[in-house]
Amino acid sequence: MGLADQIREHAFENFIEPRIAAGDTNVTVRAGDVHDSMNLVERLPAVCSALETQKFLSDNNLRIKERRGPKQGTTTTFVYELGGSIDLVAAERRRRLMLWGEIEADASAGIKPKQLTDLRIYGGAQGIWVDKKQTARVSTEGHGVTVGLLHAGQHYPDDLSDDGMIYHFPDTDRPPGRDQAEVNATKEAMRLRMPIFAILPGKPTTRRFVKLAWVTDVDDRSQQFLVTFHEIDPEDLRREIEEPEFSLMEPNMQDKFQRTKRRGGQQKFRFDVLRNYGCKCAVCDITHLALVKAAHIRGKQFQGSDHWRNGLPLCSTHYDAYDAHLFSIDPESLRISFKPGLHAEDIGIACNQLATEINRPHPDALKWRAEKTSRAWRGG
Ligand SMILES: [Zn+2]
Repeated sequence: MGLADQIREHAFENFIEPRIAAGDTNVTVRAGDVHDSMNLVERLPAVCSALETQKFLSDNNLRIKERRGPKQGTTTTFVYELGGSIDLVAAERRRRLMLWGEIEADASAGIKPKQLTDLRIYGGAQGIWVDKKQTARVSTEGHGVTVGLLHAGQHYPDDLSDDGMIYHFPDTDRPPGRDQAEVNATKEAMRLRMPIFAILPGKPTTRRFVKLAWVTDVDDRSQQFLVTFHEIDPEDLRREIEEPEFSLMEPNMQDKFQRTKRRGGQQKFRFDVLRNYGCKCAVCDITHLALVKAAHIRGKQFQGSDHWRNGLPLCSTHYDAYDAHLFSIDPESLRISFKPGLHAEDIGIACNQLATEINRPHPDALKWRAEKTSRAWRGG
């Protein structure tokens, strides 16, 4: 890229685009500021001409409304009128990635809440920060696009790990509509593939860990979002989150690494299990989100996959009971049988057949598990 192109790109991304994103209709740019921010030496003539070329104006849909100062000097100033057909979504995405660039080096060591507020990455005490003033114009319906999500800590099983989190819809006693508006703004971040900031409790507690994150999935029934932490391009992500074919085992270590990295690992598995089967223990009536776990049918220690059809929702008690081979599930009929000597009532199982709300696990997974359990019962 030649110098003129570099100047045009730099000036647009750093001086004009942020003003567009903030809702301004006129933008004033001083040549000396562009020159200095690029660390140029005595290139003011190049800067001034780049800022008034037809290419700069038409590419970015700008019109020069006013020109002040010397012909080509530090104080040469342009007032641009914005054309209107600017890609606000792309501008907002870039603005967030620039903010991330500013805090990235400190994000894992912990950042002071004040700095996050100053940068408008997070504001206030609520869990979902929309920054409506900044983001209303970016969203189609005007309800804004979530910027930051504060995760207050672990309330449910597997809520948070290194590569992602499950974020529960807010359920507060604020004026009606507030919770729903925040949920909508977070859905909008997912729809627009907009990066967000996950704010996590830090150490010491006066600091916050921050991750660049994406809202990758939503489940209205269990009222939760799946949020993954990474810096990859949203387009790559879109391809990744398409439903994969069922496989009982992880293909190989390298794929597994990539998949876990990209798709949210543990959180993705739990999220998928609850969404596809409903939030109810598969063998009893327990439905509370805090008590229902996602169990692997073929366990991770046997290279079992994270596909939801290799999973089952089980309450804590029946999770342990399944783990200890106290009961088994027939792969075809889905009937439940018990370890010799045990009865259904001994372990609080109320049904004689697997009772998920919807869907059923893959027969290959159940078959593998049933065989393993039957070996355990024979003392093998
Ligand atoms: Zn149960």
